[in-house]
Amino acid sequence: MHLKSLTLKGFKSFASATTLRLEPGITCVVGPNGSGKSNVVDAIAWVLGEQGAKALRGGKMEDVIFAGTSGRSPLGRAEVTLTIDNSDGALPIDYTEVSITRRMFRSGEGEYEINGDRCRLLDIQELLSDSGIGREMHVLVGQGRLDGILHAKPEDRRAFIEEAAGVLKHRKRKEKALRK
Ligand code: ATP
Ligand code: MG
Repeated sequence: MHLKSLTLKGFKSFASATTLRLEPGITCVVGPNGSGKSNVVDAIAWVLGEQGAKALRGGKMEDVIFAGTSGRSPLGRAEVTLTIDNSDGALPIDYTEVSITRRMFRSGEGEYEINGDRCRLLDIQELLSDSGIGREMHVLVGQGRLDGILHAKPEDRRAFIEEAAGVLKHRKRKEKALRK
């Protein structure tokens, strides 16, 4: 399993649809300051379900939508699609390629899709939960994050280990069932 491509449309500085093709192995993104490198990483966090504006380096969620420049008017929505190569069947779904899409409108309304079919964020989280990719799955290691893990409270560190071992999903399901 590997990330195959990322398409940004109206997301932050990417007003026009832009697709990055990713190959297995290491990809480096280079460019001058302010050219949008970190925005690409924000897009991955966002499509995986990030709900915090601050984690996306914004003040409010709407800040992910292209806000306009001197030569271009603002857009009404942001859309990101992450395509994952699933030819090894690592994701429990019967497709060799899985596309996850998130869309958000200025009204605040949002949508998620798996391979073009509308779904809930929960469906995406469940699909990815044993794969090592996911919103809180430490795929994105920001500055200071390693320090954070090393200095975490024991229960937080336990959650981290449980997640890595793939049992967090079952615990979350159990907690949800018990709440009903
Ligand atoms: P550095 O090398 O300094 O880390 P970078 O390549 O990571 O730079 P980013 O932080 O990804 O740069 O991009 C910042 C740019 O994105 C800024 O010019 C900012 O104005 C622009 N930007 C962020 N959000 C939006 C938005 N909603 N609409 C339009 N432009 C945006
Ligand atoms: Mg940056």
